[in-house]
Amino acid sequence: MRNAGSPAWHRNNMGNTCLENGSYLMNYIGCANCHQRDFVLISNKATEDDDGEELVTYDHVCKNCDHIVARHEYTFSVVDDYQEYTMLCMLCGKAEDSISVLPDDPRQTAPLF
Ligand SMILES: [Zn+2]
Ligand SMILES: [Zn+2]
Repeated sequence: MRNAGSPAWHRNNMGNTCLENGSYLMNYIGCANCHQRDFVLISNKATEDDDGEELVTYDHVCKNCDHIVARHEYTFSVVDDYQEYTMLCMLCGKAEDSISVLPDDPRQTAPLF
């Protein structure tokens, strides 16, 4: 007899897309204040350094009416030769990444597919 439970890997992958600052925002459906779907600017950018971990926060601001659409934050730190990133934002989603600081990343030899 089989176990009828849902597979644990069945998850929504939409939040994993890593986006550059100020580029097209997948989750942006328009400004809640003026209902325009205009460019989203970045403002109030602040950087904090907390014991080797860098915390960067900024606001996504509606170009049309200066309404703060979402608050974006990401952290950056170096752990054992790897640069670790985490990102959390209502618009950009949630992401984690790590990149080797060495020119030769041993993990890049791993198959991607
Ligand atoms: Zn607006
Ligand atoms: Zn964002």
